[in-house]
Parts: sequence; structure tokens; C-alpha cells
Amino acid sequence: MNKLHLNPIYADMPVTVFEHMSGLARSLGAINLGQGFPDSPPPAALTVAAIRAMETRSQQYPPSMGLPELRDAVAAFYGRTQGLALTRDAVVVTSGATEAVAAAILAVVGANDEVLLFSPAYDAYAPLVRRAGGVPVFVPLGPPHWSYDEVAIRAAITPRTRALILNDPLNPTGSVASADELAMLARVACEHDLVAICDEVWEAVRFDGRTHRSLLAEPGMGERTIKIGSAGKIFGATGWKVGWMVADAALAGVLAKAHQFLTFTTPPMLQWAAAEGLADPGITAALHADWSASRCVLVDGLAQAGFTVLESAATWFACIDLAASDITLDDTAFSERAVREAGVASIPLSALWEGEGGPTTIVRLCHCKPPAMLEDAVARLSQWRAGL
Ligand code: GLN
Repeated sequence: MNKLHLNPIYADMPVTVFEHMSGLARSLGAINLGQGFPDSPPPAALTVAAIRAMETRSQQYPPSMGLPELRDAVAAFYGRTQGLALTRDAVVVTSGATEAVAAAILAVVGANDEVLLFSPAYDAYAPLVRRAGGVPVFVPLGPPHWSYDEVAIRAAITPRTRALILNDPLNPTGSVASADELAMLARVACEHDLVAICDEVWEAVRFDGRTHRSLLAEPGMGERTIKIGSAGKIFGATGWKVGWMVADAALAGVLAKAHQFLTFTTPPMLQWAAAEGLADPGITAALHADWSASRCVLVDGLAQAGFTVLESAATWFACIDLAASDITLDDTAFSERAVREAGVASIPLSALWEGEGGPTTIVRLCHCKPPAMLEDAVARLSQWRAGL
């Protein structure tokens, strides 16, 4: 039989590091602090709302742009939490934020267009840019603060640069761009006429007491920013796969064309439930309090056990610096061995780094888990490490 001709982007690609680590955790019965998801069910009010919607409302195709109730609720949520003045015309509902990223890239990137990415980067961005015919150009962020270097960014821009992809707050590091950095990125984007694809799924998962500020809100960015959000992250319901893109109405109309040939639409019962949840500040406040408490259990527990935890302000993740913790393994060896020998799954940061010179001694652990599970994980890691 002849070898099938498949696209090498996928044919030569391994499964994602998240799938790999979750698979190992499942088969070995390890505590899974790798892939980011809470262990508890989402707030009961959301489940009740989804069931009620299934029982009493349509289960047929909703409009491709999303149900008006959810588009209004997203606009109102950003008005209330981030001071943005939006209407439903600016909102396109997607089947999760990854689909939103794909739709945004397909709508913006053409053959040989260059797209600025920042390392470490979420694993979906570069393959999607390549599949769209574009060329990812990586600008590294440096530990421990993961700051954006204007000189390096300007040096990476060419006449073919069309867009940048900003993940803020940043997964895997949990860092947040400063006000000065956002202003700089906006200046650069306006000067070079770039579209900013902003993956802001962690906007509601912040622990520094500050209000999230989107690049969309910077001067000149309103017409060129695609702000991506996720109900899965806001409500701790990662399997719901309800997300959205927010953009100027003209841009949103084009994004909707890309979305209509990806998933076309998103399950209506989940859209109605997400709309109800966004309108209830009590739901997000209770989740945030739980996540904040479990975060302290992991971060304090690791520190007390002698691990060096990098500073972070957001996301469900904390990173350990292995070298600073006197552990001589590199991050991949640590993750591969810890899941088998200590029974704790983690994510090596180098799996999310393309290009030379990235850090190789940092691992990411997920903390939105029951406190007893986190305490057990710290005890296992600390005992295992003592025998290394
Ligand atoms: N966002 C999740 C994480 O960073 C992974 C999602 C996925 O597995 N595709 O852990």
C-alpha cells in the first residue's frame, strides 16, 4: 500500500504534553497536577441551569454567532469586571477558547505571514499558525519575571509581520504583563499595523487583587484586538468548551466567518447556563475564594518542603525551579520520573518552549485541587526527592 499523503504538521507531531501526562496519570493512578482542571464539579447553579435549558428550551442549532443571551452576558460581564463598553455585536461565541484561537488565526493569517509569539507559549498557537500557512516567530520571555523586551520584539518584526499572539495572564508561568508592557505592546502593534490575538482565558483567575486589563483597552487597540475568553476557566468547567472572541463589530463579523466553518455553533444549553453564570457575581467570587485557598496549600506546602516556587499572580498553576531547589534533573526527566516514581504528574515548561535557550529546569503544577490531594502530592514529591 502506498503511504498516505498526510499533512506533515500533524503526521509528525506527538500528542500534546497535557494529553501525554494525563494519560500517564490515569494509567499509573498518579495524582494529576499536570493538565489544568479542577477536580470538583462546577457550581451547582450552573448544572441546574444547563439541565433546565435542556428540558425547557431548544436543543437545535443556535445562531452561529452565539445565543443573544450569552453575547449580551459576555458584554455585560466585561463591563462590570473590566470597565469595557461592549455590545453583543462585538461577541462571537465559540466551542472553547482553543477554537477561538483557531478561528482568529484562520481569519487573520495568510500564506507566509509572520506572527509574533512569546515563549513559553501555549502549545496550540504555533501549529495553528503553521497550518494557516503562516510563520511563527518566537520572542523569548526571561525568567523569573517573564518580561516583554521591546528591543527583542522590534527586532523580530519584519514587513511580513501581521499579528502577535499575547497570552495574558500567561500559562504556564502565571505571570501578568505590567501596565507599561501593555502600553508598549499597543504602541508596537499600532506602529506596525498588527492584529493582536489576545488569549485572556485566565483573566478571572488572578490572585494579586488587581483588575485584569486587556490590551483591547489600550489606545488604538479597539479596532485591531481579538480578546478571547473562556467559560471553562471562569467557572472551573473545562469540559464545557464554551468560549468567545470579542472584537470591534467589523472584525467580529469576519471572525464569525472563520468560526462558522470550524464548529459552526456551540451547545445551546451550555450557552444559556454560561449566560446565567456570568450575570451572578456570587458564583465567580465563591470559586475564586476556593482557588485562592487551594493555591496557598500547594505554594506554602512546596516552600515548606524546600522547593523553590517561582512568583506568580494568576492561573491555576505554580512553577517550581528545580535547579534552585537543588534538584539536578532537567524538567522533562523530573516530570517523566515523578509521575512514575512519586505518583505526581506535572508539566515540564520546556514542552511549551520553541526556539533556543529556553529554561530546562522549571515544572508546572496545577493547584485548583482539593487541599488533601495537594498535601498528599507535596508529601509524595518531598519523600521522592529525598531519595534522588
Ligand atoms: N489549558 C490546559 C492546561 O494548560 C490544557 C488544555 C489541553 O489539554 N488542551 O493545562
